[in-house]
Amino acid sequence: MTSTLKNVHTLYVDQDVRDFDTVQPILDHFKGVPCHIVDGPTPVFRRVASAKDPISAAKEILYLTRNKGAFVRKCPGTREYTCCGYQILHIGTFCTMDCSYCVLQAYFHPPVLQFFVNHRELFDELDQVLDSRNPEIRRIGTGEFTDSMIWEPWSGLSHKLVERFGRQDHAVLELKSKTVNIRGLDQLDHNRKTIMAWSVNTPEIIATQERNTAPLQARLAAAAKCEAWGYPLAFHFDPMVIYPGCEQDYVKVVEQIFEHVSPENVAWISLGTFRFMPDLKAIIETRFENSKIVYGEFVPGLDNKMRYFKPLRIKLFQAMAAALKKHAPQTTAYFCMEDEEVWRKSFQITPDLPALLDHSAQRVCGIL
Ligand code: SF4
Repeated sequence: MTSTLKNVHTLYVDQDVRDFDTVQPILDHFKGVPCHIVDGPTPVFRRVASAKDPISAAKEILYLTRNKGAFVRKCPGTREYTCCGYQILHIGTFCTMDCSYCVLQAYFHPPVLQFFVNHRELFDELDQVLDSRNPEIRRIGTGEFTDSMIWEPWSGLSHKLVERFGRQDHAVLELKSKTVNIRGLDQLDHNRKTIMAWSVNTPEIIATQERNTAPLQARLAAAAKCEAWGYPLAFHFDPMVIYPGCEQDYVKVVEQIFEHVSPENVAWISLGTFRFMPDLKAIIETRFENSKIVYGEFVPGLDNKMRYFKPLRIKLFQAMAAALKKHAPQTTAYFCMEDEEVWRKSFQITPDLPALLDHSAQRVCGIL
């Protein structure tokens, strides 16, 4: 079952945002949940850090605050691998779901489930970015430091973002999720400028590594519904985990996707195998005792992350490339963080990746 903040048992609210009009509806939603007004994040950090398992504790403590930095920022890709030129819209951090491989477990010290409520500043900055028609800012997503849709249905943010992007023709918003919290998206004036995206995996990996996420069938049913509501779609196979029988299982997921939705409406499909900073290994071993995902044939990559030995990655990617060619020959598929050799041996191209994805957004979403 998807977890979307229903497990939150404590709220912290920064005193300088308590009177924001975005805050009261959230407090109403969490009526009865103990709420502390604080002067900065220190009490939240202390509370989380003092827990036996700070990562689990952080998933149940919601902190409403202001984003004091930029809302729109470049995705932190690495120089060594082909990067897609994505922009992040920074709406909050961390997640209520619990995937063994989640990089956010090791990214924040300690992790804090914070939702930024200074939406006036967010939309002022977004207006500037969209009005500038900067050719380098064509694809913007909220699902980098959090899941895009856990904040539904009480925040109302997706509603406002979808309609803001619907009023322009230069860029697309991508909302990426493992939830099925789509109820608020019906009847919005999206103008096909919001791509509804799902991270997908094999039923085996979802069952064993993705606690509290929606099952694959539910994600695909939600995607089909969004397609019926006129939204373009995207799918992300990331992280792909290598285990006995994985190739057939991943190919089957490709087949299932196109039993639910039409390839012409899919803006892109990304592929990325499991990779991790060495710090994450101990976290996974402690928090997910039965998980075996860190015990594969891994080698350090150019960015210091552990990656599967390259021939293993290429073998899995070649199977996926063949399946995608069969079921969705026109759909853009790409790698998140792979090198030229992997591109060449899997897709027979070494593309200008940002241009490839911009072109897909033009074709599928009608951006100019
Ligand atoms: S859904 Fe995404 S953000 Fe949430 S725990 Fe899983 S990997 Fe992390």
